[in-house]
Amino acid sequence: MRTRPVVNINEDLIFERSAPGKVAYSLPPLDVPDTDPKSVLTEALLRDEIQDFPEVSEFDVVRHFTRLSTWNHHIDIGMYPLGSCTMKYNPKLNEEVWRLAGISNCHPLQDPSLAQGNIQIQYELQQLLKEITGMAAVCLQPAAGAHGELTGILMVHAYHDAKNQKRKFVLIPDSAHGTNPASAAIAGYQVKSIPSNSDGRIDFERFKDTVNDAVACLMLTNPNTLGIFERRIREIADILHEKDALLYMDGANFNALMGYTRPGEMGVDVMHLNLHKTFSTPHGGGGPGAGPVAVSSRLEPFLPLPLAAKTADGTYYYDFQRPKSIGRVRAFMGNYGMHVRALCYILSCGSSGLKEISETAVLNANYIRHRLQGLLDLPYSEASLHEVVFSDKLQIKKGVKTFDIAKRLMDFGFHPPTIYFPLIVPGAIMIEPTESEGLQELDAFVDAMKAIVKEAEENPEILARAPHKTKLRRLDETRAARQPILRWRRKANKDRPPG
Ligand SMILES: *Cc1c(COP(=O)(O)O)cnc(C)c1O
Repeated sequence: MRTRPVVNINEDLIFERSAPGKVAYSLPPLDVPDTDPKSVLTEALLRDEIQDFPEVSEFDVVRHFTRLSTWNHHIDIGMYPLGSCTMKYNPKLNEEVWRLAGISNCHPLQDPSLAQGNIQIQYELQQLLKEITGMAAVCLQPAAGAHGELTGILMVHAYHDAKNQKRKFVLIPDSAHGTNPASAAIAGYQVKSIPSNSDGRIDFERFKDTVNDAVACLMLTNPNTLGIFERRIREIADILHEKDALLYMDGANFNALMGYTRPGEMGVDVMHLNLHKTFSTPHGGGGPGAGPVAVSSRLEPFLPLPLAAKTADGTYYYDFQRPKSIGRVRAFMGNYGMHVRALCYILSCGSSGLKEISETAVLNANYIRHRLQGLLDLPYSEASLHEVVFSDKLQIKKGVKTFDIAKRLMDFGFHPPTIYFPLIVPGAIMIEPTESEGLQELDAFVDAMKAIVKEAEENPEILARAPHKTKLRRLDETRAARQPILRWRRKANKDRPPG
């Protein structure tokens, strides 16, 4: 069985590599006149407090950062089965394409006539996301899923404002991601929570009884955070539309549906996509994210501006002529580099590839479900899509909690799954292997889980103190949150000024 490497090093030696005279670069001799910075920069731009830079060689720098990268788990060293967060492979091809000089060096204020290809990239991505979701229009600006939610809810607000309607409530199932109620509240709504039924789906009757003309919209995650498909979705949309309320779909779990069904055909009015989940752009330390919003024709006029657009003669431009727009939600055009990577991903997969992604994501989650069933408690028996939610109900009898299982997984070289979410499952363990993992890796994960379940039976103390092999052991999470130490500081040294 695999275990993670143990790195024992003297931290002072690792961090303190500086010595006078070491340099990490070599430049050709200056062939222009030397200038004093004070003659070109204003006083305000000159910062005296920045001094005492480390003096290190290039090798020192490379080793330092490479070593740091091995102290943390990341998708490029092992499986990262973080349910709902979809940590999949970030294809290196996407990185190659983004690094093309004409793409990565283009200034956001470049004149559109000199950036036609760059605008085309965003235009094509908008078009493809429209096609994939079946929605009427797409805006790429939001910088994350939660930002997409806020953008969507602000559009719902603008929609009712334009009709002079005052709406007070946003309905959200109790299984939803915490960002849903947060986004609704920031947009000025009161949240009404709708309970889930014993299947793990929204309680349809309760929903139906709660809809009235004070409701702005329902925010529904589909498949929901239990990995279960929300049925009667067309009926749900019709009930809302009858009261001129709208249907928001949280599309963070879209890798379960892509290529099989389209939210536009379910009656969805607005959804966000997480390019950093479904469409393979890096996240979890590798970000930034991108959370495009897709809307039905009802909300199209309210989309943020500008949108990437194309004239009849094929010229690309940014369209600012959108009088009903809610305005900008992000500087320039959002996290452009992520748009490039997502377009690259979609084009390299093609439509059959996108469908295969959903298929494999669902297959992989069901493989894990099948192999761990019986060892871990499965609170909902409904069919799983791309993720499966277990609980610690069987292990808690021995005093072993979800938290301990998650920590112990790190000793086996795996990132822990999402834990204690969704909130409706006590001690939830939410596993999403994604489509990127092969059979060997899935089996290794199952073996690790089996070994941990056995330890929970026979030797629970091992779990109570896990992890044992990571650089840092079990942290005092409260202290880490209250008194975070976010950077290394050199120990006081009388020979040096404090840095
Ligand atoms: C990840 C996620 C979000 C929020 O997306 P961010 O990009 O992290 O802001 C919202 N809803 C669900 C279901 C998610 O999984």
